Amino acid sequence: MANFVVTGARSGIGAATARRLAESGNTVVGVDVADVEVEADLGTSAGRRTAVAAVTESCGGVVHGVVCCAGLGSLSAHPGGKMVAVNYYGAVDFLSGLRPALGRAGSASAVVISSSSTTTQPGIPADLVHACLDGTEDEATALGETAGALAAYPATKLALAWWVRREAVQQNWIGEGIRLNAIAPGMIDTPMTGGPDVNPELAKALDYYPVPMGRRGRPEEIAAVADFLLGPGASLICGTVLFADGGTDAVCRPTDWPAAWSPSNDDLARLFS
Ligand code: NAD
Repeated sequence: MANFVVTGARSGIGAATARRLAESGNTVVGVDVADVEVEADLGTSAGRRTAVAAVTESCGGVVHGVVCCAGLGSLSAHPGGKMVAVNYYGAVDFLSGLRPALGRAGSASAVVISSSSTTTQPGIPADLVHACLDGTEDEATALGETAGALAAYPATKLALAWWVRREAVQQNWIGEGIRLNAIAPGMIDTPMTGGPDVNPELAKALDYYPVPMGRRGRPEEIAAVADFLLGPGASLICGTVLFADGGTDAVCRPTDWPAAWSPSNDDLARLFS
């Protein structure tokens, strides 16, 4: 049996994932602000360091899989800067800190929860996405604060998806036997979309969210995808963003993906020199 780590394990998708992995007999270390094995605020660098140290110790230095679910939604009154700190840095900093423990497993898998808002919400602020990927946390949180929660949310999730695709193929991830992938859930029935903190006016907009399957997803359905990506059935999957959204992305953008590739000279030099 394996040592698995789940952030955001107190609620929603994280709780369903932790439950599913534990039911299969694995050791599961939950990370959240309260009520789990490791209590830490992943929205601060000190909290992330504390979490990495505590998780590594709990797992005896060897982690076989991580699912990063901790996040703040855009329908509640969270400042955009805090959303950047939790949703983006709370995943990438935490995962980067756990890389040595994942590498010791010999074969490991890390999953981040992105969102279908990355491809279906118009007007994502590109400067914020690029600041997450290539700037400092201070710059990115300042831009998140300016953008506000509604725009910052999909920006953090797009940055996460692009970070996964950029990093997964590098020597320090797949070269060390660590598969890195993302899940992009559609609208899932959790406290993030239907809890007491959700602004009722903003929640009304969800009734118009296009879902060909005709219903919201359940957290257990995302947990099943995470379980698959952690397991041996996904042994060839590296750097992908797997949409689990009841058809939302397909109905909004039927021909945008897969996109035909027109490599630049730089692309060719990078790949074949
Ligand atoms: P949720 O609110 O039920 O769970 C989020 C969890 O993250 C909570 O347990 C919360 O305590 C934890 N968390 C928040 N801030 C934290 C911090 N600073 N440090 C540590 N933990 C913190 O929401 P959910 O719907 O289960 O969301 C899980 C993930 O899925 C999130 O990343 C969310 O953005 C993503 N997602 C959700 C939906 C949806 O429709 N529910 C859709 C797409 C993506």
